[in-house]
Amino acid sequence: MHSHVLHYTPKLGMNFPAMNDSPLARPLDLPLYSIGEIATEPVLVVAPHPDDETLGCAGAIGLLRARGYTVNILVVSDGTQSHPNSRQYPATALRDVRESETRFAMALLGVEPSHITFLQLPDGAIPNAESPDFPAVVNECHVYLKSVNPKVVFVPWRADPHPDHRAAWQIISAGLQQAMLSPKVMEYPIWDWDLEQRQLLNQDFYHSWRLDISEVVALKHQAIAAYRSQITNLIDDDPTGFRLTPEMLSNFAHSWEIYLQENS
Ligand SMILES: [Zn+2]
Repeated sequence: MHSHVLHYTPKLGMNFPAMNDSPLARPLDLPLYSIGEIATEPVLVVAPHPDDETLGCAGAIGLLRARGYTVNILVVSDGTQSHPNSRQYPATALRDVRESETRFAMALLGVEPSHITFLQLPDGAIPNAESPDFPAVVNECHVYLKSVNPKVVFVPWRADPHPDHRAAWQIISAGLQQAMLSPKVMEYPIWDWDLEQRQLLNQDFYHSWRLDISEVVALKHQAIAAYRSQITNLIDDDPTGFRLTPEMLSNFAHSWEIYLQENS
């Protein structure tokens, strides 16, 4: 589910800076790095919904796999709220469709199914730090994180307008802490690309940069196209169904991706 949340109130008081601008307003001003400058392994890419890993990070995933690095994908929610009223695709069928889309997209980028994990938490209701279910989910994640032992983690930006994206950041951050792991963390923006939802941030708090993905940008376009349930009329019996607009998709078609890193 990708609801429109116009007013974001930070839930985590800690580590949250005053906001004054968005790096997405002038992306071409951001420094452009090559994959060699960040490449290390194992890699973990965390997606709140099946498709976020591709929209935000397909370029990084493709470049890292092309160099033989181990890349793990963790999909947090089951994705079943994109078309909640479809009769043809009730929740379990929709979940299966979206998971198979993820597997197909990741296969294009060289990620094997055995490196993809689906947590299947409820779409639209991923527990956040204030939820009673949070500790149990963090526990489950902590076990997973220890088994993967990532040296670099790609997570949704902590202040993304979508609550599921913020909750995913909170779960992973708490899980890493509990597992006593301190990988490099790269936060990727998704719903800030929507001008109506864009948040401000304190640019002193983050180092924002672009990753040059020109080598694999065609593959990224193919991987995005694999998400037929999100970009086509595949599911046509739910008038409230979600669809990524061409305007939104165009933000993810560039030959670069944007990442934000908290300044140390
Ligand atoms: Zn999402």
